[in-house]
Amino acid sequence: MKTHEYDLLIIGAGVSGTALLYLASRYTDLKRIGIIDKYAAPARVNSLSSNNSQTLHCGDIETNYTLDKALKVQRAANMLKNYAVGQADAHHIIFKYPKMVLGVGEAECRQLRERFETFSPHYPNLKLLDKKAIARIEPAVAMVDGGFRDDEIVALGATDEYTAVNYEALSSSFVRQAQSVTDKQIDMHLDEYVKHIKIDDERFLIETRYTCYQARAIVVCAGGHSLKLAHDLGYGLHYSCLPVAGSYYFTPAVLKGKVYTVQNDALPFAAIHGDPDVLVPGKTRFGPTALVLPILERYNIRTMPDFLQVFRFDKRVAKVLLDLIRNRDIRNYMLKNILFEIPLVRKWLFLKDARIIVPSLRFRDLKFAHNVGGIRPQLIDKDHQKLLLGEAKIDTGIGAIFNMTPSPGGTSCLENAEIDLRTIVQHLGAHIDEEAFKQDLLGEDHRHTDTDFTGRILSGEDAA
Ligand SMILES: Cc1cc2nc3c(=O)[nH]c(=O)nc-3n(C[C@H](O)[C@H](O)[C@H](O)COP(=O)(O)OP(=O)(O)OC[C@H]3O[C@@H](n4cnc5c(N)ncnc54)[C@H](O)[C@@H]3O)c2cc1C
Repeated sequence: MKTHEYDLLIIGAGVSGTALLYLASRYTDLKRIGIIDKYAAPARVNSLSSNNSQTLHCGDIETNYTLDKALKVQRAANMLKNYAVGQADAHHIIFKYPKMVLGVGEAECRQLRERFETFSPHYPNLKLLDKKAIARIEPAVAMVDGGFRDDEIVALGATDEYTAVNYEALSSSFVRQAQSVTDKQIDMHLDEYVKHIKIDDERFLIETRYTCYQARAIVVCAGGHSLKLAHDLGYGLHYSCLPVAGSYYFTPAVLKGKVYTVQNDALPFAAIHGDPDVLVPGKTRFGPTALVLPILERYNIRTMPDFLQVFRFDKRVAKVLLDLIRNRDIRNYMLKNILFEIPLVRKWLFLKDARIIVPSLRFRDLKFAHNVGGIRPQLIDKDHQKLLLGEAKIDTGIGAIFNMTPSPGGTSCLENAEIDLRTIVQHLGAHIDEEAFKQDLLGEDHRHTDTDFTGRILSGEDAA
């Protein structure tokens, strides 16, 4: 058996793991850093460009975020933006499109007007848009058959912001930048499936099929599989995992940018949105749906045993599931999402939801997006008997951290990596170059570039 020894070993080369690889290589004095993934390239699971909505969440148009949560996400989004716009290939990573959240009907319009009062001081680009203003940005949202739609609509939106990210390209960029650091050992091991993690004499032993890696500290960023590896080590046993898959539909390019809808508080990931797909020009992608599936990785049935291992079904999990089903909104929503997977029926049902955004959409415009959409590993906290909605972290306090990252895990990759980095650096007695970190990632938008509304970044000459 070969052995490799690291100060820090990261398991999982999605956007979370590669962000940490980048931060640890660039901003610490750790000398030996490794990253392992079971696939042949980084970002093949939820960070794959087709498996998520590619949104850079800033908090202003996500109506399920309170101001506190929104400002936290805004900081994370700014870190990502500061990194991305500084890259030579920024135009492959980050994109500008108009964005808005659409309120339909009196109650939602009132809610958005109130939100504008609270949020606009913190979001200077945010505008309250009436029907005419919406029509100027997104004609298909405000107009039907050449006239304005009849129902009351209002939107909150911005037209000159970075709103989309190719998280797959971002992951590759993090790896490239990490590997360009020359005075350190930065290793990437692909096609290596981590089977077990053990602790031996204050070191972690990470076993794959042919190799036993040793590390002084580990951070596991393996999506739902993080929980499985944590359970193996005896941590996080009070968590169960509920995998929520998301599917999408393509239509012709009816939207210029991202159009979100108002979330139902009981169902924070339920409202669909329409988005350009950064890799599929000429189309709009609507979704995601939300379907609970007994697998940890979309389109990978071999992850079913892993799901059964992390589900840890018992009375407390049953109670959380029963509470969810007892809520009429959630029950109906779950049923609808089961129907969303049945060919033909699903198109009619989905059309009804998509028409809230674009009233003139026709049945024949919708095409189910096959092999698109990942799985959000939502955790159930058995001790408090509730479903957790954001990212979750198990910090063992002994130099091992396990991350489970549903939405907005792409947006918060650098901020989440920063949290882990600080914990690991303290554990190992290492140091962070705070000055460089702050200057590169926490600065204001000092490298602003102009873009047109197609998402293409315009260079200085183009813009002039
Ligand atoms: C439908 C959907 C829409 C979303 N939309 C957005 C959005 O618009 N904006 C946003 O910010 N976020 C969004 N998210 C969330 C975002 O996609 C994820 O939070 C993010 O991609 C998670 O990255 P990760 O690196 O933690 O996990 P992943 O990208 O899933 O990477 C985990 C890695 O671990 C590896 N791995 C797993 N087990 C092992 C093992 N045993 N050994 C070795 N390697 C292993 C896998 O191969 C994989 O590469 C969305 C998610 C979904 C599902």
